[in-house]
Amino acid sequence: MNIIMNTSFKEYDYLIVGSGLFGSTFAHQATLRGKKCLVIDKRPHLGGNVYCEKIEGINVHKYGAHIFHTSNQEVWDFVSSIVEFNRYTNSPIANYKGKLYNLPFNMNTFHQMWGVITPIEAEAKLEEQRAEARAMLNGRAPQNLEEQAQLLIGKDIYETLIRGYTEKQWGRKCVDLPAFIIRRLPVRMIYDNNYFNDKYQGIPIGGYNKLIEGLLQDVDIKLECDYFKHKNELDAICKRVVYSGPIDEFFDYCYGRLNYRTVSFETTVKNTSNYQGNAVVNYTERDIPYTRIIEHKHFEMFGDEIQKCSVSVISKEYSTEWKEGMEPYYPVNDNLNNSLADKYRELASNTKDVIFGGRLAEYKYYDMAPIVEKAIKAFVLDNTDSRKK
Ligand code: FAD
Ligand code: UDP
Repeated sequence: MNIIMNTSFKEYDYLIVGSGLFGSTFAHQATLRGKKCLVIDKRPHLGGNVYCEKIEGINVHKYGAHIFHTSNQEVWDFVSSIVEFNRYTNSPIANYKGKLYNLPFNMNTFHQMWGVITPIEAEAKLEEQRAEARAMLNGRAPQNLEEQAQLLIGKDIYETLIRGYTEKQWGRKCVDLPAFIIRRLPVRMIYDNNYFNDKYQGIPIGGYNKLIEGLLQDVDIKLECDYFKHKNELDAICKRVVYSGPIDEFFDYCYGRLNYRTVSFETTVKNTSNYQGNAVVNYTERDIPYTRIIEHKHFEMFGDEIQKCSVSVISKEYSTEWKEGMEPYYPVNDNLNNSLADKYRELASNTKDVIFGGRLAEYKYYDMAPIVEKAIKAFVLDNTDSRKK
């Protein structure tokens, strides 16, 4: 859609920088309530990191596998009102030196690891290993991920399923990583391979692009438009800016650059209808350089549909240190970056007529559902505030 930018009046109520889930949800809410919005994105496509590229008829998650999950009924009802979701349930498999284990850690994993059959047998085995970990700690609280993992799940699972994967993912030794990272993985004493504990889970039928197109159907859009290259013209035609790009870039990196962890993807088309039999297979040994292989068709094709599509698309994921020019994926949770982010947040809170929101503008990892929730709230808050003014 073409936008003519010769206006001397404020044509738009909101200029929304970024067409990811934050920007798109905000634009949808604002448009629904009679506000005029212009959404711009520097990329040649909509959707930010949930964007899917069609390859051989398969939706390929270009910026990493995305599974929508939430227990928030309002968020689920909202996204389901835009697009129908399928019944995909994430149940990754771990491959350690050719032997397969179910994730997250549950009775299937314990059976594969130790041959135990009942929860009582599994508890006994876990307790034996936890006791060893407690003895090593000698009354101390766990100081790092290695100690926390051994206390949570024992040394066998730590060595087989955690150590190699975590060190590849974070590029650091487990003894140098914070304990909290491993606490978010469920440990279940039932035979249940569902990776998430949430009430609702799925993938939009037809892919994430359908969700974004639904959110933006009545909104003016301009792609391949970098806000900072056209800031003056863009600011001149809108009353307020919603900014979902990197917070340090907005302030011209005045305190220095924030750091990230990134992932690079090696995507190939395989001449088989079913390459690995599952959407996600984690490679947990250190010597295999990638962390996992995603087979995209399993997110959206089930039963006979799998065989009907004679090829498959897979992506190997390599977790790497971020450098300028790469995609910024995960914020780095260390003291240096946290205090730098705080300084930028302080500047943002004093910047009039700009709303900062989303994972890059807040420098915080968020799943998709909390992003949708935050965008809905941000619009309500902005309009409550402006009525007060
Ligand atoms: P983004 O999607 O990054 O959108 C920001 C947009 O702003 C981008 O399109 C960018 O091009 C644009 N932009 C930036 N600067 C400018 C500028 N100067 N001018 C114009 N445009 C600009 N969540 C889940 O719930 N489930 C998952 O399974 C899951 N998997 C993930 C896997 C990976 C590898 C990663 C990194 C994240 C995952 N997430 C997952 C989180 C999910 O990606 C985020 O919650 C969501 O994408 C955040 O949306 P956003 O709009 O804040 O950011
Ligand atoms: N993890 C692991 N082995 C696995 C999967 C996960 O050791 O097969 C660890 C890893 O340290 C990871 C953490 O568990 O950072 C949390 O896993 P999750 O899948 O939530 O991580 P994400 O990939 O979403 O960051």
